Amino acid sequence: MRVTLLQAYELLINGDVVAVPTETVYGLAASLNRPSAIDRIFQLKGRPQNNPLIIHLSHVSQVSSYVNQYPPDFEALASTFWPGALTLVMPIIAEKIPASVRAHLPTAAFRIPQHPLSQKLISQTGPLVMPSANLSGKPSSTHWKHVTDDFGADFPILDGGICSKGVESTILFYQEERWSIIRLGAIVPSAFLPILGYEPQIEKPKNGEAPLCPGQMYRHYAPKAKLVMAKTFPIDGKGVIIGFSDRKYPSGYRVLNLGKTSDPNTSVKKLYSVLRQLDVEGIVTAEVDIDFPQEGLWLTLAERLWKASTQGVVA
Ligand code: AMP
Ligand code: MG
Repeated sequence: MRVTLLQAYELLINGDVVAVPTETVYGLAASLNRPSAIDRIFQLKGRPQNNPLIIHLSHVSQVSSYVNQYPPDFEALASTFWPGALTLVMPIIAEKIPASVRAHLPTAAFRIPQHPLSQKLISQTGPLVMPSANLSGKPSSTHWKHVTDDFGADFPILDGGICSKGVESTILFYQEERWSIIRLGAIVPSAFLPILGYEPQIEKPKNGEAPLCPGQMYRHYAPKAKLVMAKTFPIDGKGVIIGFSDRKYPSGYRVLNLGKTSDPNTSVKKLYSVLRQLDVEGIVTAEVDIDFPQEGLWLTLAERLWKASTQGVVA
C-alpha cells in the first residue's frame, strides 16, 4: 500500500515499520528510538539477530553523537561520498546505540542516502535503521512492487520510483590504520584512491573466522531458481539465459537481459528485477552469462550473482 511522505513520517514516529526508497535499494525503515519497531524488522525479514542494521542519517554532524572520535579520513570520505552509496563502519559509544541494531558489536554502520524522499523523511524523523526491504536471503527490492511481493499488499511503502543505483552501498571498515571494503557495492574501489591515497583492499571472509561483515555469513540475493554460471552456450541448447542485449545467443534460449556489455551501471540496476522475474514466472533454472570483466562495478555484479547462486552459500 503506497503511503505519502506525511503518512510515512507518522507511522515511523509512532513505532511502525515502513518501506522507504533509497538510491541503492528500498529499505525497511524503523526509528532508531523505537526498539519494538526494530525487533519487528528482524521478524518481518526473518533476519538473523547477529546481522546488524545500517543507521541512516540526514546530516554528517549526527555521527558525532555516537562516536568518541572519527577514524582517519572519515571527514574526507563523508564529504566526498555522502549523501550517497557509501556505508562507513566505525567504533561507537556502545550505550548510544541499541545492541539489537549493532548485533552487540562495538561498532555501527552509518550512511546518508541521496534519494530526495529518504533525505526529506530522515530530516523529519531523525535516524532510521534500514536493512534492505526483502525477505532475508532473497533479492533486494528496487521497485515498490518488489516490496509488495515480499510483504503483502497492505504493507506501507513510500514510492520513490525505480532505485537509480539498484545495488547496495559499498561498506568500508577501518582497521589496522586502513579502510577496507567489507561489502562490494555501488561505489567502485578505485573511487577511493584520490581520497585515501590507496585503494581499499577487499576483505573476504576467512575460513573459520567470523567475517568483518556479518551479512557475509548468509546466503543473499537468491531467487528460488537455480543459477548456473556459464561463458559459452551450446548451439542446440535451450532454457533461460540471464545475458546481455548486445550479445548473440543460440536461438533456442530465452534471454532476460541485463543491458549492454559496455554498461555495468545498467546491469547492476536491472539485476534484482531480473532475479525476481525468474520466481514470478516459476523458472527453475537459469544460465547466467558471466563473460564480463572482473573489475570495477562488474566485480559487484559478479559477487551478487555468486551469492545469489547456490555456489555462494557460506552458511
Ligand atoms: P542490508 O541488511 O542489506 O542493509 O545490509 C547491511 C549490511 O551491513 C549487512 O551485511 C551487515 O552485516 C552490515 N553491517 C551492519 N552493521 C555492521 C557493523 N557494525 N559491522 C560490520 N558490518 C555491518
Ligand atoms: Mg540485504
